Amino acid sequence: MMNPGEIEMMFPPRPTALVHQILAGFLREGDWVIDATAGNGHDTHFLAGAVGSSGRVLAFDVQQAAIAAARARMVQAGMAARVDFFQESHARMEKHASRACIAAVLFNLGYLPGEDHALTTTAAETIVALDAAVRVLKCPGGVISVVCYPGHAAGLQEANAVEGWMAERANTGWRVAKYGAIHTRRPAPFLLLAQSVTI
Ligand code: SAM
Repeated sequence: MMNPGEIEMMFPPRPTALVHQILAGFLREGDWVIDATAGNGHDTHFLAGAVGSSGRVLAFDVQQAAIAAARARMVQAGMAARVDFFQESHARMEKHASRACIAAVLFNLGYLPGEDHALTTTAAETIVALDAAVRVLKCPGGVISVVCYPGHAAGLQEANAVEGWMAERANTGWRVAKYGAIHTRRPAPFLLLAQSVTI
């Protein structure tokens, strides 16, 4: 039986953990995936495990410190050979991924914990990257996931822009969902998911 502390830690699940749980049941050995915001490499690590030794992770981040941290995590996990790192904006992902070949594109917005908070994702560039993600995604069935942080002004503006973008996908037949805690002291992080469909 779980003690109250354990229950509190697990519920509601953090969006960053929830997206791993959801995608674990969806990704297959050999898939190609994109980590659009590599950061400290937690998502890269999850993705590399999920796609196996015959799969491929393309991991983007604009910060050298993030690429170094994510790469070190992958070396330690013995999975560095499954990952291509690009110190480049996710807005340029099409330079490195062919059209309609990617099973999932993950975004975890915001800044790198412990580094310069000014080096954060921005609404304008995130929308450009989401549009690019649509073009590289497998259709039907490919998934785009975005963890949004509306707890501060810029994060809220970006979260609203992404949610609006997701609503447009829903209007064109994609399956779209939103998960997050409600009635919190400050707006809580939430997860948006979109799956491509053939119309
Ligand atoms: N997914 C990471 C992990 O598992 O540790 C955490 C990501 S962190 C919240 C957000 C990251 O987005 C930061 O490392 C930041 O440098 C990166 N970033 C900001 N703008 C970016 C852009 N235009 N393209 C790619 N990465 C960007």
